[in-house]
Amino acid sequence: MSQSLLMQSARAIDGTGRAPYAAQALLLQNARVIDGTGRAPFEASLLIEGDSIVAVGADADARAASLPQLQRMDLSGRSVMPGLIDAHVHSTFDDAAGHDELFYHRRPGMAAITAARNVRKMLCSGLTGFFDPDSIFDLGVDLKEAINHGVIEGPRMVVGGYALMTSVGGAAGRLMPDHGTMAYARLVRGKDELVAEVRRQIKIGCDWIKVHVTGSLSHRRGEGELVTFSMEELRTICDAAHDFGVPVAGHCRSAKSIIMSLEAGFDQIIHGTFMDDAALDAMVKHGALLVPALTFQANLMEFGDAIHASPGLQEIFRKEIEQSAEMFNKAYKAGVPMLCGTESGFSVTPYGDWHYREMEVFVRHLGLTPLEAIRCCTEYGSHVLRMKDKVGTLQAGRLADLLVVNGDPSKDVTVVGQKDKLEGVMLGGRWIDLQRQEPERRPMPEWRCHDFGEILTKDIVNAARQGKH
Ligand SMILES: [Zn+2]
Repeated sequence: MSQSLLMQSARAIDGTGRAPYAAQALLLQNARVIDGTGRAPFEASLLIEGDSIVAVGADADARAASLPQLQRMDLSGRSVMPGLIDAHVHSTFDDAAGHDELFYHRRPGMAAITAARNVRKMLCSGLTGFFDPDSIFDLGVDLKEAINHGVIEGPRMVVGGYALMTSVGGAAGRLMPDHGTMAYARLVRGKDELVAEVRRQIKIGCDWIKVHVTGSLSHRRGEGELVTFSMEELRTICDAAHDFGVPVAGHCRSAKSIIMSLEAGFDQIIHGTFMDDAALDAMVKHGALLVPALTFQANLMEFGDAIHASPGLQEIFRKEIEQSAEMFNKAYKAGVPMLCGTESGFSVTPYGDWHYREMEVFVRHLGLTPLEAIRCCTEYGSHVLRMKDKVGTLQAGRLADLLVVNGDPSKDVTVVGQKDKLEGVMLGGRWIDLQRQEPERRPMPEWRCHDFGEILTKDIVNAARQGKH
């Protein structure tokens, strides 16, 4: 069944392109079901009523037989899998080419408008949920509410507010001011400011608190990223957040920072690169989520030439992946919930093109099987959405967030990223209209710099592969 046929079939149900919602049930038949739990694929029917999957397999066929009004959809030769969950997206960065764009070229109104367009792009590429750890101008909360209240169309979204940093800064080093707010960051001084900012973020509706536990200073690059908070400060953040049941995520690029953060009570470790055995033991002991977020590095390392990225930068990222791959594999095997985050929102990771890509990195560089990588991007992804047992797997009782793929992702995860193979995206029981044409977007004045080179779209990579670039 072609994409358009699938959409027509869906349209035929109620004339709006939406799947039956509450009034009528839908039976997806003969599909290869990849349920997201890591279990081997099996051929089965899925019964969807309202916004949920109500039965799978023989139970679905039996219950469907007694339903007076039922739409059947034959998905022979297709795979059905849970929608992708990206545990690390910067949805308000608008494919930024570097810090200069985020610090000096963005305006709040235009950033919100472009984000509204970009979240739909993500949804149409098969992303049904994501975590945005920090946004510019604190826009994440409003973006989430706009999605939740039907103002705009987008995946399920959970957000952090401004990333907490000390005056030592994070990834931008000396570009950061000593206090106040800059782009996606709040520079906090001492305990009182930390507690006040955590409470402010909780008040406005942040689902997570994001902390830049490590940061890089250009004049001390040889030491790697430095821990920029004291142990007492890290504990203060966790206590203030946990008092309200809000979890804490930390950007950590060193073994020491991972151990300190976990001891302080962090619930999610972002990057987690350069982990040692003691840090891995701490990960297992504390049960925190691990989000390596390697797609950014992998894209620059593998495709950087296509966008004329500096060889030195490509080499730094190659080392980060190579030196961390074995520990991440061990972490997965030890039962650490490892999630797929793609760092989408930069020019090397534009929205809509790469949300499948972390699965490919997990398979190719970390040695996971495709089914394990899919689990990281689906079942484990539900943990960051704080929707464990509600989304992420194709099981009775879960919300119907699913993809129809013309191919077998259990053999090759990259098929999910091929736009002509992604035939259907369902979010909460509704088909998303993949045919809708967005207006052509043209460059806006005073909006972009080009530190990383051109925007690394899939088209550029494909053209480069075919020698056309
Ligand atoms: Zn990030």
